[in-house]
Amino acid sequence: MKKHNFSAGPCILPQSVLEKASEAVKNFNGLDLSLIEISHRSKPFVDVMERAQELALKHLNLQDKGYKALFLQGGASLEFLMVAYNLLEKKAAYLNTGTWSSKAIKEARLFGEIVEVASSKDQNFNYIPKNYAIPSDIDYFHCTSNNTIFGTQMQNFPEVSVPMVCDMSSDIFSRVLDFSKFDLIYAGAQKNMGPAGTTLVVVKEEILGKVSRTIPSMLDYKVHISKDSMFNTPAVFPVYVSMLTLDWLQELGGVANIEKHNTKKAEMMYGEIDRNPFFKGFVTNKEDRSKMNATFNLLDTSLEERFNTMCREAGINGLNGHRSVGGYRASMYNALPLESVKVLVDVMQTLEKQA
Ligand code: PMP
Repeated sequence: MKKHNFSAGPCILPQSVLEKASEAVKNFNGLDLSLIEISHRSKPFVDVMERAQELALKHLNLQDKGYKALFLQGGASLEFLMVAYNLLEKKAAYLNTGTWSSKAIKEARLFGEIVEVASSKDQNFNYIPKNYAIPSDIDYFHCTSNNTIFGTQMQNFPEVSVPMVCDMSSDIFSRVLDFSKFDLIYAGAQKNMGPAGTTLVVVKEEILGKVSRTIPSMLDYKVHISKDSMFNTPAVFPVYVSMLTLDWLQELGGVANIEKHNTKKAEMMYGEIDRNPFFKGFVTNKEDRSKMNATFNLLDTSLEERFNTMCREAGINGLNGHRSVGGYRASMYNALPLESVKVLVDVMQTLEKQA
């Protein structure tokens, strides 16, 4: 039986997607060839790329609004520097909400002046800063919508008159937002979209081509757009699995429906964290809690071994917190069933009764 997979990423994907993907590796679309042994320029794969791009824009409600969807490589980490390479002429503003924002800032500093408008580092990133001022003389504003490691999530985004860039690696396609507020969204595939190996970049074309530096072709969004995301050989398998996952999401009724499912899971999880006297949530400000990654601690650490064994015996996988936070992290991405959260909550309640 499949384990209850709470892994933070790479993470759980829909079982039907894994089955279709396995079949395509053996025999793609009845071609008697594998998906991974045909040309990326052949019609069957070009169709995959086009459908993945179309679905990505559709789920974000960004079709026919001047945006392009690209499936690039190098992970979200390469986007930290590609964003700056392509958009930073003099100065940009960043909101620092965790490890990934800090890394984005570090890379961007190689290209210009970075103003850190606010940071939650003073409390080990357990909240989202509010009421910060964003200077107007900047090339863009950058934020991270969901902080995978610390378990915080932005519920509101500032109004800015400059391009807004957002790292949505760990909550893309999980909730409805007005995505047209953003001019560039990027997300590594390996949470809500597919396997590691490709990064979705959704960019409003009009913000490009404004910096004076020469951009190497592989790092130039305009080059990738001009080649329909096929400037070089794309990561064919991750793009295909992403397409299957986006199709699965479509069949489920899209982002609006998955958001309801994600809300139920998060309510059940945080309900237990708050109720059970043996546990304490890491993010104390409830409105900043992530619906994707719930971080919590077991107050009596001498019970850890027992709790870990109980989790293992219940078929729970991937619950360890990130090394910089410790404790536990239950990642509840789109494909995680409510049933898995119930199993974890049961284990937490059993521990309380037995201890
Ligand atoms: N941003 C966020 C929010 C992440 O969660 C991660 C990875 N977990 C990254 C960036 C880095 O992504 P990658 O490993 O694909 O470079």
